[in-house]
Amino acid sequence: MASLEHQTFLVTGASRGIGKALSLRLAEEGATVVLVARASEALNETTKAVQNTSPNSYAVACDIGDFNAVAQAAESVLERSPAVHGLVHNAGDIHPIKPLMEANLEEWTRSMMVNLVGVQAFTQHLKSALMGGHRVRVTTISSGAALRPLPSWSAYCTAKAGLDMWTRCLAAEGASHQLSAVSIAPGIVDTGMQVAIRSANEEDFPLRQNFVGYKEDGQLADPDEVAAKLFPLVTEQTMNDSGQRFDVRDL
Ligand code: NAP
Repeated sequence: MASLEHQTFLVTGASRGIGKALSLRLAEEGATVVLVARASEALNETTKAVQNTSPNSYAVACDIGDFNAVAQAAESVLERSPAVHGLVHNAGDIHPIKPLMEANLEEWTRSMMVNLVGVQAFTQHLKSALMGGHRVRVTTISSGAALRPLPSWSAYCTAKAGLDMWTRCLAAEGASHQLSAVSIAPGIVDTGMQVAIRSANEEDFPLRQNFVGYKEDGQLADPDEVAAKLFPLVTEQTMNDSGQRFDVRDL
């Protein structure tokens, strides 16, 4: 029997990149995967690929930066999956890449919504599926940017730093409900997010050439390899490491 049979894992940002690789890996191990991202052909295709190995898996299209959309998405998850065993808050957006003093406030706020507030909203709406007395692991995908200020990444750095603390708060409050939580920085990974970083305006982002160099020098990690390293922590359900932050490069 596959190890995750009868377990449901919800992965946000499942259409592409790290979330796609992790969803496929979870499906291979027998989990039912709920794939969350905005409606797109990429989400449809990834869902079909996941369903090839895990036929009960399904997609829920949702913009995580939109409160109403998150509430509706959570409602449809609860209808189909009254118990969720693993929740992976992986969706993320690097924009806006702009100096703090010049960033458009709506774009800055939107980053907070997608990278941080949406995580709180989704989790809260899924309360009954997470606090049913069964063991649950919540994983947030953090970043080195949570620890290190990078020029023109103020929204992303601030949101990811907040996400680390949010994870610790959830771990503290979840302990009496068998709910554990960890945050994991995935390293520098060859995904659409790195394309977005390399596409930034050089004037806005003086480190752009460094990121071009990481790609040219083959320093970007493969999403499948990163998913394989995330897998044990994402599926761990003991409370031992709850509240901790990990970096994939140390695993
Ligand atoms: P990616 O390939 O750009 O994927 C990002 C995912 O997030 C996509 O599935 C995207 O789905 C989803 N997403 C973005 N905005 C969303 C929204 N408003 N609502 C719903 N879904 C949304 O990037 P990735 O590298 O795999 O990123 C995964 C996680 O790793 C992120 O949290 C990122 O911050 C973190 N991370 C990545 C790196 C790296 O080097 N790649 C480094 C450190 C941390 P749609 O666009 O299809 O909706």
